[in-house]
Amino acid sequence: MASLEEPLRGVVGGKAATRAEKAFDLRTTGDLLRHYPRRYVHRGDLTDLASLQDGEQVTVFAQVAKVTSRRMQSRRGRLLEVTVTDGSARLALTFFNKVEFWERQLSPGRHGMFAGKVSTFAGKRQLAHPEFKLLGADDVGKAAEYAAELIPVYPATREFSSWDIEKCVRVVLDTLGEVDDPLPEALRQRHRLDGLATALRGIHRPADMAEADRARVRLKWDEAFVLQAVLAQRRRAAAALPATARPGRAGGLLDAFDARLPFSLTKGQRDAGGTIAGDLARAHPMHRLLQGEVGSGKTVIAVRAMLQVIDAGGQAALLAPTEVLAQQHYRSITELLGPFGQAGRLDGADQATRVALLTGSQGAAARREALLDAASGAAGIVIGTHALLTEYVQFADLGMVVIDEQHRFGVEQRDALREKAQGAPPHVLVMTATPIPRTVAMTVYGDLDTSTLTELPAGRSPIATHVVPAAAKPHYLARVWERIREEVGEGRQAYVVCPRIGGDDPSRPAGKTDGSAHADSDDPEMGLGEDEEDWSPRRPPLAVLDLAPALAEGPLAGLRLRVLHGRLPTEEKEAAMRAFADGVADVLVATTVVEVGVDVPNATAMVVMDADRFGVSQLHQLRGRVGRGSEPGLCLLVTEAAEGTKARDRLDAVASTLDGFRLSRLDLEQRREGDVLGAAQAGRKRSLKLLTLLSDETLIGQAREEATALVDADPELAAHPVLAAAIGSLLDEEQAEFLEKA
Ligand code: ADP
Ligand code: MG
Repeated sequence: MASLEEPLRGVVGGKAATRAEKAFDLRTTGDLLRHYPRRYVHRGDLTDLASLQDGEQVTVFAQVAKVTSRRMQSRRGRLLEVTVTDGSARLALTFFNKVEFWERQLSPGRHGMFAGKVSTFAGKRQLAHPEFKLLGADDVGKAAEYAAELIPVYPATREFSSWDIEKCVRVVLDTLGEVDDPLPEALRQRHRLDGLATALRGIHRPADMAEADRARVRLKWDEAFVLQAVLAQRRRAAAALPATARPGRAGGLLDAFDARLPFSLTKGQRDAGGTIAGDLARAHPMHRLLQGEVGSGKTVIAVRAMLQVIDAGGQAALLAPTEVLAQQHYRSITELLGPFGQAGRLDGADQATRVALLTGSQGAAARREALLDAASGAAGIVIGTHALLTEYVQFADLGMVVIDEQHRFGVEQRDALREKAQGAPPHVLVMTATPIPRTVAMTVYGDLDTSTLTELPAGRSPIATHVVPAAAKPHYLARVWERIREEVGEGRQAYVVCPRIGGDDPSRPAGKTDGSAHADSDDPEMGLGEDEEDWSPRRPPLAVLDLAPALAEGPLAGLRLRVLHGRLPTEEKEAAMRAFADGVADVLVATTVVEVGVDVPNATAMVVMDADRFGVSQLHQLRGRVGRGSEPGLCLLVTEAAEGTKARDRLDAVASTLDGFRLSRLDLEQRREGDVLGAAQAGRKRSLKLLTLLSDETLIGQAREEATALVDADPELAAHPVLAAAIGSLLDEEQAEFLEKA
């Protein structure tokens, strides 16, 4: 049996092997065969030259139309310009110096493949010194059969062109016999999938598109199935770990809390709460993702779970992604608990516990007290940011960890916190307000069980969203500020959100920040929603530190404005938030630090400046800040993006629906998947070459079922050595520690 592990060198020769490795890190025959064509062209088809983008590395099929050569003025030698055409548009190919060689070959009328990087010179699209391969003179007029042949077009580089790759693949396929197949025979039959060798031939050298499509499906299965088998193994291993069971206790703190709750839980809250209560009562660690729209009431669920853990003698930790959020959680949880969070204080209830707050920058005394409360167990609930993860924070008995907004939290941090619980790992509840499409949940959070809150608590006011085209209709912007004045005039408050902090380097656009502490945006993802080509000619996005004074002296003169952004010292952030929460400020001009969790029910309006600089899901998150009280919310998305542009379409979509799941799908469609998966998942992205998370939902679901069943029946994969090996190399690729740690 030919192996896919064979070094390329021995099969395609040293020179080609070196190029393959340099260009794409392809080392084995298997690596090469998994370097799939990007698309196929019929020999007769010419590339649409008008659609070429500047900077693109392309392989085009075209016909030579015109050849001219002239002596260069500034340099010695001659310049050859060859114009090729697709029948309508034209593209220039330029060659320098010893041009006679090329001139002889590139005669008008010839068809060929030309590969190079598209650039613009003197207003003309060109390929400078392209690699090319002419189709034989006799090729063109040959039989219809020949013209219909599919030519694979590969991701290629200048040194390793699409036709070089094609040639190497052909050599490898010619020597390939049967290959070991990671998909079990029975599964292949159930889903009518080709064997691996057939699929590899089919994707590289298909007779027709149907064959290529069939091969793709089969190879997508490889990707989905191997990944889901890894996840199934991890779930199984995690479920087998011991944990301390934290069953509910009748007549405990939770019961007392429930009795005093000023509202009744929604059905979704009751269901999710019941599931979590059941998870906690088991002697194996919970790993659950709780997702629900902003304002759907996740916090109450988390608090109730924490109280159950406290009733069972343990402690709970809550991790928030930012200090502002940690502080806010502290305030709202303290408030929600009322006397039940005031143990040892005058107004404490009988069976009360204590809530401790730990942040990186709090004062020494407050910090000492919080550390003591955590270590002694006096604090049943400990709330904090990453600071909670530093070594000297100790818990008496950490039973559960709640992580808010997982998408901002690294896996390493999750792990570090788990290590805080001596002995058995704690139960883990991850909360996110970013609705995650099912397939992403299955892939990225494949090791977590999921609960979803689909309804908002009754009495929630709707949020009206409007796009304000500031460039086309400047007077609309004036109207925006009038609206804010009206809102404030009625005793309510408003947010104004900008993409950038500003102040130090106004030329630095937020999307180009390096993620360092001095980044000019409070959002590590800022600008991802952008269409790259939009960047250069545009002005830098509006900044908090520029807009706030302009508003104070201009359209919002006389209103009480406060500024909030990530570069403020903690006390000032805290003071600004508090002023706004207490109604001492009318308008909060802020960056995306207000995005998650900030809860001021009296704030009813939000203006997002340069809204097109934000991602779809992010805008949805942002507007969740208004409409939390009894008054309807208003969100105004101000943009200069013209109608009909992608950026404008995004905003119109946000304005047209409040369905977070729909918007998150849209977001996923528009971003590169690697971005959605996050940096930590880069390896996974590399292993998912064909699979797309949105359009392959059904396939991923089926693969997940199959993989789970197989792993349940044969946890060690003793009967499936090829699958086990495929998992092994996937794990290598993904830097095994990431998957194994969790
Ligand atoms: P999330 O964390 O999902 O954004 P929260 O838990 O912060 O939502 O809830 C938002 C607000 O709604 C809070 O003020 C909370 O007290 C309130 N709330 C939660 N559940 C209910 C409910 N079932 N009925 C009425 N109000 C609720
Ligand atoms: Mg919340």
